[in-house]
Amino acid sequence: MEENVDPEDAPTCATCGEPVANNPTHRVVTWVEDDAVQARHFCDDDCRDAWDDER
Ligand SMILES: [Zn+2]
Repeated sequence: MEENVDPEDAPTCATCGEPVANNPTHRVVTWVEDDAVQARHFCDDDCRDAWDDER
């Protein structure tokens, strides 16, 4: 398991892998799994919508 990731620790887009830290259209999706908050970052809505193969 990973340590908690600091929010300022340059996340990357889950779809295309680009850094999203300085992207103004940055999106974050969070959910709770096993009593822990999970987060996934995306460049923008297009990349978020492209992520459709989870679960
Ligand atoms: Zn992306």
